Amino acid sequence: MFKRLDVIIIVAIMALALSSLAVSAVVRNMGSDKAAYAEIYIDGELERAVSLDEEADFTVEAGGGYNRVVVEDGSVRIADADCGAKVCVHCGRQSIPGSMIACLPHRLVIKVTGDSEKEEESVDAIAY
Ligand SMILES: [Zn+2]
Repeated sequence: MFKRLDVIIIVAIMALALSSLAVSAVVRNMGSDKAAYAEIYIDGELERAVSLDEEADFTVEAGGGYNRVVVEDGSVRIADADCGAKVCVHCGRQSIPGSMIACLPHRLVIKVTGDSEKEEESVDAIAY
């Protein structure tokens, strides 16, 4: 009788431990996803910051020209620009905190930022 009760308690504790692990993993992922932003700098000044959770499509005036910025699927990219070589357009999508898109002729920089936890996580992901 006591033995069966012990087994039930052990199973219950294990189930609790497993489910709380699963819940904390899900919560951590949700938290880090919400932390990512695209910061748009013109001439070194922060022009605007856009959450990568949102969809956005807008044009930024910079350096006598324009850059069309598109935010979708948790990433940011420059979809179009009237700078010479369009290096910024060819940078493609960026979504990892710490990565950047630069348009040198327009002195425009887009920086992907996250909280420190997300940056640590992405460093770990690269390390392994
Ligand atoms: Zn450019």
